[in-house]
Amino acid sequence: MTATIPSRSAEGAAAGPLAPNYHPLPVTLTTGEGAWVRDDAGRTYLDLLAGYSALNFGHRHPALVAAATEQLGRLTLSSRAFDHDLLHPFAEALSELARPVVAGAGADGPQPMVLPMNTGAEAVETAIKAARKWGYDVRGVPPERATIVVAAGNFHGRTTTIVSFSTDPEARDGFAPHTPGFRVVPFGDAEALRDAIDDTTVAVLLEPIQGEQGVVVPADGYWPAVRAICDEAGVLLVADEIQSGLGRTGTTFALELWGVRADLVTLGKALGGGVLPVSAVVGRPDVLGVLTAGTHGSTFGGNPLACAVGIAVVGLLRPGTFQERARTLGAHLHARLATLVDTGLLVGSRGAGLWAGLDVDPARMTGRELCERLLRLGVLAKDTHGSTIRLAPPLVIEADDLDLALDRLTQALR
Ligand SMILES: *Cc1c(COP(=O)(O)O)cnc(C)c1O
Repeated sequence: MTATIPSRSAEGAAAGPLAPNYHPLPVTLTTGEGAWVRDDAGRTYLDLLAGYSALNFGHRHPALVAAATEQLGRLTLSSRAFDHDLLHPFAEALSELARPVVAGAGADGPQPMVLPMNTGAEAVETAIKAARKWGYDVRGVPPERATIVVAAGNFHGRTTTIVSFSTDPEARDGFAPHTPGFRVVPFGDAEALRDAIDDTTVAVLLEPIQGEQGVVVPADGYWPAVRAICDEAGVLLVADEIQSGLGRTGTTFALELWGVRADLVTLGKALGGGVLPVSAVVGRPDVLGVLTAGTHGSTFGGNPLACAVGIAVVGLLRPGTFQERARTLGAHLHARLATLVDTGLLVGSRGAGLWAGLDVDPARMTGRELCERLLRLGVLAKDTHGSTIRLAPPLVIEADDLDLALDRLTQALR
């Protein structure tokens, strides 16, 4: 008996053993520096995707490469069976950085706790497990009944449990049976959120700004209302800052835009400095503390190389200069995109800091077509849904280079 494996040649993708779970733009990158990358034919491109914000500090930031290189010469992996000399310093550094976004931490409240993992999805899984265990151990939710309220249009990763509460059919369908215990409400609707909470609810899990959905920024009153609803109901607020956090929005954490603190915060992407996957959950010690020895873990979480890079990332963020760049360059970006909307070349744009979602008129071209045009003009960007593309330049991008990229965007739209 022979099995027939469907061919990918119909889509024009390169044949070979690589699984077809991506449809990349036709470019093969070989080197990168700052906001620039080069392909195998020597052409250069401005990278306006920045690894979905994993490259907030650009390609091969010297401080991050130095930290990684130094650590490669010392110790790369210990497993959590043994401590290593950077594990506690990393937790200390990240904890202090996160004080403004963790409930109760303040300037001299309890120090936020840090649980290191690797990928973003693992950080989200960790937050879900901590919230459920807290619900049973502390809140007194009846066994097996815990519910978590999430938002339509969410993106929290690709594990079986996480896709169980995705509202994107492509991400969700075909992977049943799904994990129960999640309720979906519209993003930006605080009253719907309030109505979805009951005695079984342990947490509300939301992205401050929905990145994959097209950089959707909720109205100003939303986040303070969400915090108040969670406090009233006695449920945890879990903020997924994996894409929105670490400088992207002009603040260290997006929730700071609204002066809101979460009980648990998931971090990833830029925490690894574009060098390796590093993620973490940061939050209230009385909540994360329910994950005692043996209840949760990771072979690679908090490894020496990850901690070396993570400490260097926190070091880059501490002075606030990247956040400041995101604010000033972001204001310029949004002003220029507004002009493109005014002149009819775009049908909409929105965002915060150096992060924008823009909509092209689907009658003119798809987001994919726009990205292909941009590629030919030396700019890398990626469509999210249909006719929406997301711009997230590295925060190190020079003002002139941002203008160059926006000139090329204008050209591509004409
Ligand atoms: C990318 C992302 C994740 C998943 O991160 P991975 O490292 O790809 O597992 C989760 N949440 C948000 C908001 C993200 O943008």
